[in-house]
Amino acid sequence: MPFRKADYGPEWDRIKKRILEREGYRCRMCGVKRYSVGVRHKDGRFTLHIEAASYEEARRYARDGGGLIVVKLAVAHLNHDLSNHEQFLTALCDYHHLKHDQPQHTENAKKTREAKKQELQKGLWEESDAVLI
Ligand SMILES: [Zn+2]
Repeated sequence: MPFRKADYGPEWDRIKKRILEREGYRCRMCGVKRYSVGVRHKDGRFTLHIEAASYEEARRYARDGGGLIVVKLAVAHLNHDLSNHEQFLTALCDYHHLKHDQPQHTENAKKTREAKKQELQKGLWEESDAVLI
């Protein structure tokens, strides 16, 4: 869900750390561990090369091998509700976080397009009213 960090509240860093620990620093959907380096296939499967101990180590390894990605974890709001109830929070890798939020992104994009269209039509009506007067 595309929110700014400030939207998550002042406790967010602490909550996020607790959730990542609870989930064992693994994606709830695919089980891939944070800072894993490997290949993400189009069908979502992940081929692991190494599980690095740090982001820096993972980046170094990924830089040397072509087409490798570094898995980062995000704490996702499963119910898209920012009240941060921990039973609705989980760790997801970049791939599954995007997949989880995709319907919401699509809906938001649709709403934005419709709002712009209405604004445009409203503007055109006002313009044509002005012509009639
Ligand atoms: Zn995943």
